[in-house]
Amino acid sequence: MYKCIKCNGSGVVPFLHIENGKCFDCNGSGKVEKVNSSISASLKRIEALKSSLIQLESKHTQLEKEYMEFFNYLVELSNSQRVSKELTRKQNTLAINLQNVEKTIENHKQGIENELKLIEL
Ligand SMILES: [Zn+2]
Repeated sequence: MYKCIKCNGSGVVPFLHIENGKCFDCNGSGKVEKVNSSISASLKRIEALKSSLIQLESKHTQLEKEYMEFFNYLVELSNSQRVSKELTRKQNTLAINLQNVEKTIENHKQGIENELKLIEL
């Protein structure tokens, strides 16, 4: 049994002036034994949608996989940027330390020259 499409299972149609609106497709029962053309068309659409759904689910799985791969890639990239920032900070610290030591060396060399000038004849 199928729901009568014409009366949407109610057994009545809006034409109340004809036999109080009794649906002739289902004889007022709201149900039909055989598949009529509109049910057949509906079943075809359901089949088409089911078939499309399988393809979409496959595509969804693929997209989800790509999304996760890209997400992981971004996480990896952000981690490496963090590493990169850390390295840059370390490099700057080393450069400042190096400059400070170089300045101190220059000061010491100057101090030695000054001392030598004092004692040299
Ligand atoms: Zn009907």
